[in-house]
Amino acid sequence: MPIATVNPANGRTLRTFEALGEAEIEQRLAAAHAAFGHWRTTDFEERAQLLGLAADLLDEDQQDIARTMTTEMGKPLAAARAEAAKCAKAMRWYARRAEELLADEHPAPADVADSGASRAFVRYRPLGVVLAVMPWNFPLWQVVRFAAPALMAGNVGLLKHASNVPQTALYLESLFCRAGYPQGCFQTLLVGSGAVESVLRDHRVAAATLTGSEPAGRSVASIAGDEVKRTVLELGGSDPYLVLPSADVAAAARTAVTARTQNNGQSCIAAKRFIVHTGVYEEFAERFTEGMRALTVGDPMRESTDIGPLASERGRADLEELVDDAVRRGAGVLCGGGRPDDLGPELENGWFYAPTVLGGVTPAMRLHREETFGPVAALYRAESLDEAVALANDSPFGLSSNVWTRDAAEARRCVRDLEAGGVFFNGMTASHPALPFGGVKRSGYGRELAGHGIREFCNTTTVWYGPEAAGASA
Ligand code: NAP
Repeated sequence: MPIATVNPANGRTLRTFEALGEAEIEQRLAAAHAAFGHWRTTDFEERAQLLGLAADLLDEDQQDIARTMTTEMGKPLAAARAEAAKCAKAMRWYARRAEELLADEHPAPADVADSGASRAFVRYRPLGVVLAVMPWNFPLWQVVRFAAPALMAGNVGLLKHASNVPQTALYLESLFCRAGYPQGCFQTLLVGSGAVESVLRDHRVAAATLTGSEPAGRSVASIAGDEVKRTVLELGGSDPYLVLPSADVAAAARTAVTARTQNNGQSCIAAKRFIVHTGVYEEFAERFTEGMRALTVGDPMRESTDIGPLASERGRADLEELVDDAVRRGAGVLCGGGRPDDLGPELENGWFYAPTVLGGVTPAMRLHREETFGPVAALYRAESLDEAVALANDSPFGLSSNVWTRDAAEARRCVRDLEAGGVFFNGMTASHPALPFGGVKRSGYGRELAGHGIREFCNTTTVWYGPEAAGASA
């Protein structure tokens, strides 16, 4: 895959980049390793000050970096600005909270004495150079949610970003550099995916975090396994969205439109499978379809656009195959179902796809088990809560889940039984710096955000003092 900015709204290549050669990669690895030697000894105050400065710069740059993201991957401009603002917020959250999240932990005095110690505690120390392999769909947010906690914990970062967002990748390096981070603390490696293995195997790299597809995750995890290096994997999702009889159906349908189409439908935590109880199926299907049909597809630079193009031609072709398969196997097209027409000559070569609702979806269709990465909703009818939960869990993925109900017993049942890293009631799944984020099953392992996310990049160190060392403990 070439490293290039290609505008998905019209298919034009705007800039191409040479991948780094071996010598340049070596230079960056050496710089990262050297930077860690110093950065690991800095205190939280210094780290927080620099991260706060980076957040301020990001706020100043918001309009420009939003346009870059929209140009590189097609998200509506307003969503790109919101993404930049969310990144600044997460940076400030970690700047403020990291010290408390990584404070020493003290076991109960009786347990300390039982271990034979005069004093014992747990300290969270940084791991070293962390390699981040990141996707294009939230090109700033995916990186910041790794970088902010990793840097606050005292690690240094090497970013291998998706090949279609090189300018956003370079912006991130320049952002940390302008904020005053020492050279080597955060670097972008403009390389293709083929270069990941040698970087990950390098003895100076301590851990890796990957957000992306299952094949990419499997590859990075097996190399890291071979090297016995820590990994966090945030992979795909096909989140269920259950609508049960006690729900506010109008609100559920309104939210469902956003939950399915945010980021042009290319979000790992987008609701993708809408499982609706038969008692409210007709009403939900009608309201939801109406909402999807009303969306404006078009130039993502226009403020009035709801849905821009998909990020790549390949991505659109994959989506078309999934829809064709479902229709061949009996799904009904309630709206959309193909490329929108009449977008005008400027956008005719863009990779657009119309917001689509498919009814009568069954487990026999490919999209039941595969991720639809675009504005396509699969609608299922369930006769009971048991059937809804069984359908929801009948997926290789387990990222998050959404449930609309006002019944406390149903809610408890869903918290107990849904196989996912999150259960969101009467709303849609969204990430927040204070809430852990991640999945189970083929959606990956490990957690990002909150205290869980920052500790993924730490060496949990046991510190133990024998009786005669009590005076020396600090
Ligand atoms: P992708 O093709 O897996 O690419 C993600 C990153 O991995 C890119 O930097 C890519 O580099 C690299 N990569 C690809 N194959 C690799 C390999 N064999 N070894 C090492 N690196 C490799 O995924 P994508 O299409 O960009 O992103 C969409 C996927 O990400 C979806 O499945 C989505 O659900 C998932 N996602 C998950 C989360 C989450 O938090 N769980 C969040 C966002 C997205 P190149 O670009 O150079 O190929």
